[in-house]
Amino acid sequence: MIAVLKPSATGEQIENLTAWLEGRGLAVHLSKGESYTVLGLIGDVARLDTELLEGLDIVDSVKRISDPFKSANRKFHPSDSIIEVGNLKIGGPHFQIMAGPCSVETPEQISQIAQGVNASGASILRGGAFKPRTSPYDFQGLRADGIELLLEAKRQTGMPIVTEIMNANHLPMFDEVDIIQVGARNMQNFELLKELGSIRKPVLLKRGLASTLKELLMSAEYIMAGGNHNIILCERGIRTFETFTRNTLDISAIPALKELSHLPVVVDPSHACGIARFVLPMAMAAAAAGAHGLMIEVHNDPKAALCDGAQSLTPEQFAHVAENVRRIREVEAL
Ligand code: PEP
Ligand code: MN
Repeated sequence: MIAVLKPSATGEQIENLTAWLEGRGLAVHLSKGESYTVLGLIGDVARLDTELLEGLDIVDSVKRISDPFKSANRKFHPSDSIIEVGNLKIGGPHFQIMAGPCSVETPEQISQIAQGVNASGASILRGGAFKPRTSPYDFQGLRADGIELLLEAKRQTGMPIVTEIMNANHLPMFDEVDIIQVGARNMQNFELLKELGSIRKPVLLKRGLASTLKELLMSAEYIMAGGNHNIILCERGIRTFETFTRNTLDISAIPALKELSHLPVVVDPSHACGIARFVLPMAMAAAAAGAHGLMIEVHNDPKAALCDGAQSLTPEQFAHVAENVRRIREVEAL
């Protein structure tokens, strides 16, 4: 349920109303816009006397939210959420590119790639330490050592890092990680999502291989229900009957998610296509459609990559993509 307050409501009146609602067992999320203030109410609203609430001087209107996702809902929080990552912001007008290898492999590899992408338009370094591989015989990642190497690259370049978690027991290893990624395969690992709700670090939540947008938003809701509202949604392609590309990039997910939710939306064209030469057009399309950021796989020697070489760009190719995306964003801002 949301209560839209009149522009005349004072800070003290809002505080008193919030305390009164909390006293009725509800969690209250305040969203202050330029001319309106919205109180998002979560909990057992059935016990609330809505007529009484509607009758209050400072209340303009009260509306029930029928969608099952509440905290992630745009109606709860009409303005875009802006997530802070170190000194960077993502969401609203703030656009960031995350780039780096599928997997962290060696100190030289991650350091070279980090320096390359840092010099050419990426602001956040990605790299998998724990890898969700389809085959147990494939490279599984350097695990804790991989996180150490990412942290070393962060010290060298000053870039914040994003890396995937697969098991809530590993959380202590992610203390110095800036954004924790939940991969497509774990989008509905609800116990993991609940654990991530108990921390306050930003979470990059990737859309599941065969998940609807509403399911993605319900997964975000699991994290938000625990109190962690620092969530970045990621469209990374979904399974369709098409097999020419690895997945099918759902470009319409960008405006749809932005309409349904206030959370930032980034796009991963690398896993969506699986083909390096398609990353440029898909990255440009995502930027043109209003994405708040991109996640792109880059390798210093794609042919020798231990994972996802076919979709990885060289640092030079990445620089070209970043420059074209910058130009598309200039046009989009017109
Ligand atoms: C990744 O980003 O390394 C990854 C495994 O992606 P996804 O979960 O989207 O497949
Ligand atoms: Mn990959």
